[in-house]
Amino acid sequence: MTVLNKVLIIYTGGTIGMMQTPKGYEPDQNFPDKIRTDISPIEDAQMPEFDILSMDPLLDSSNMNPQNWDKIAKIIDENRRKYKGFVILHGTDTMAYTASALGFMLSGINNNVIITGSQVPFSRLRNDARENLISSLIICGNYSIPEVALYFNNKLLRGCRTTKTDASAFDAFESPNFPPLADIGVDINLKRQWSYSIHLKKELIQNKLKRTKPIEYFRHEKQKTPDEIAVLKLFPGISARFVEHFITEEVKGVVIEAYGAGNGPTKSVNPELFTALKNASEHTVLIAVTQCLRGSVHLDSYAASLKAAGVISGHDMTLEAAVTKLYYLISKQGYNLEKVKSLMEKNLIGEMESSTN
Ligand code: ASP
Repeated sequence: MTVLNKVLIIYTGGTIGMMQTPKGYEPDQNFPDKIRTDISPIEDAQMPEFDILSMDPLLDSSNMNPQNWDKIAKIIDENRRKYKGFVILHGTDTMAYTASALGFMLSGINNNVIITGSQVPFSRLRNDARENLISSLIICGNYSIPEVALYFNNKLLRGCRTTKTDASAFDAFESPNFPPLADIGVDINLKRQWSYSIHLKKELIQNKLKRTKPIEYFRHEKQKTPDEIAVLKLFPGISARFVEHFITEEVKGVVIEAYGAGNGPTKSVNPELFTALKNASEHTVLIAVTQCLRGSVHLDSYAASLKAAGVISGHDMTLEAAVTKLYYLISKQGYNLEKVKSLMEKNLIGEMESSTN
């Protein structure tokens, strides 16, 4: 029998389910049993029924890679008719990357997908794991948020807008350029004006994007290694020689963490660096995001803008969204340089400004 609000918990690893070992914290294989005994749907009318599926191997999220994103997307894709939603238990270190990648890969999905984790394991008496897990389950089972969201410390955020901003506080995630999807306190109030499912479907159709079918990409990736994508952070004194060696023809896309509004050394002051970037832009997508936590790239504001060097604007995207969007457009959709460039500057799933609904 299909239970209408049933949730599938996908346990990928992460601190939330870790235990202390002589080597330090490691994922606990028995965590699903602990959830089953500790959290019972009968205790509270709002608690949905749930099943739990463990990934193999369980990972510290520092070990996550694009193949792991594919696996998670595939599980969700295969189960989307059986469950109202999915709660993904994940390490915090790369959670914002997975949330962003899944946002692109599952674009157009009608189910709730909530990714969560914790700073302190469930196994410790004082922890943030229990609250994050229970609230994610309750939101997933009782509300409609058909997109990939991230729940952490009483905040429900759009996944592709998030970044980890604190290594130790319970309040570890922010969505610097986009408001939370809900007000969460005694009551949970979804901010319906931020729901993007209708808008999203329109954007996807307009941009003629294929809905990702992860299973097909698995076959594809057995034959070829994933396309190379990189991140380059500007700093005073960065050398042209380094950039030349770093951005080779094999690298399909580079996210440049530029200064402020998308600035960097100018042609008149550092012609070698300018030329290195300009040459690289002939074969590689170069996209600028800001090194600042908040705000946006505006490539027309300054003479020192990187626009003349062939760099395009990532607007107010997070680094995580820009990296995973490159991965999605290049490796998943298989687009050429020009098409990737044009889509990188467009809002696809609410990952950048111009989309508030
Ligand atoms: N290293 C851990 C992980 O990302 C940290 C955490 O979960 O908070 O899996």
